[in-house]
Amino acid sequence: MTEVVIALDVGGTGMKCALVRPDGTVQHEERHPTRAERGPAAVTENILDIAESLAATARAGGLTPVATGIAVPGVVDEVTGVAVWSANVGFRDVPLRDLARQRLDMPAALGHDVRVGALAEARLGAGRGRRHVLFVAIGTGIAAGLVVDGSGYPGAHGAAGELGHVVVRPGGSVCGCGRRGCLEAESSAKSIGRRYAELSGDPEATAFDVATRAAAGEELAGRVWRDAIEALADGLLTAQALYDVGVVVLGGGLAEAGDDLIQPVRAAVAERITFHRSPEIVRAELGDTAGCLGAALLALDSLQGDR
Ligand SMILES: [Zn+2]
Repeated sequence: MTEVVIALDVGGTGMKCALVRPDGTVQHEERHPTRAERGPAAVTENILDIAESLAATARAGGLTPVATGIAVPGVVDEVTGVAVWSANVGFRDVPLRDLARQRLDMPAALGHDVRVGALAEARLGAGRGRRHVLFVAIGTGIAAGLVVDGSGYPGAHGAAGELGHVVVRPGGSVCGCGRRGCLEAESSAKSIGRRYAELSGDPEATAFDVATRAAAGEELAGRVWRDAIEALADGLLTAQALYDVGVVVLGGGLAEAGDDLIQPVRAAVAERITFHRSPEIVRAELGDTAGCLGAALLALDSLQGDR
């Protein structure tokens, strides 16, 4: 009898869902639209329906679903299993873990998307074998997850890891949070694309284009990219001062730039290091499946206490 866990990573636009074996092997995968515009109650219902159908898929394939793990963005209380707040999905104090437990009649766990992504990279991806891992997801926003000895650090209020809102350029660009000069407002994929669009007049250019054009020697793209990398290095140095990790894993959409990101970030961090011990800086290995695998790991961890 092969056991699997049901894993869902709920994003602002899409949900990545899977059946995952205890060794981390993905047995089955599905993707669904989140359709957040229908409101949090409808999204919650949809999550539970999909989880239920995944359980049925597992059983039909001769597998035994033993637990459910759900990852969501925003502020997440992992202890009580409540999706406290989310800007892009609209959750306000939704007890998702208990709802999943009741609907599926099996243990369930709820986690924060980036923090469980960190867990997956630390245990199964680029941070394998390392004790202190900081995963930094750079996409539309910037968020981080700290993993120590295989456990994620959620913080007292389920809000740890908001590295994107560390101010690195006082008086700089306006951030979504209302302040100026946050790391996210200077170095996220979204802000890099926007900055370049403003300066070049090309509204279609993405952060990835900026990286490519910078590598090809375009002066303006080079300047925008360099500014973003330097702000990112300042943010990472702050994180290193606080956490002293062994490895920083860079993920999210911007990591698609590969060495065009990793090499200059390494150089910019090395330039800034004084007495701190330098972390190794590497690219994430799990891509956009990290959140889903992390949700699975959380589900498996939730079984430890029950057995
Ligand atoms: Zn901010």
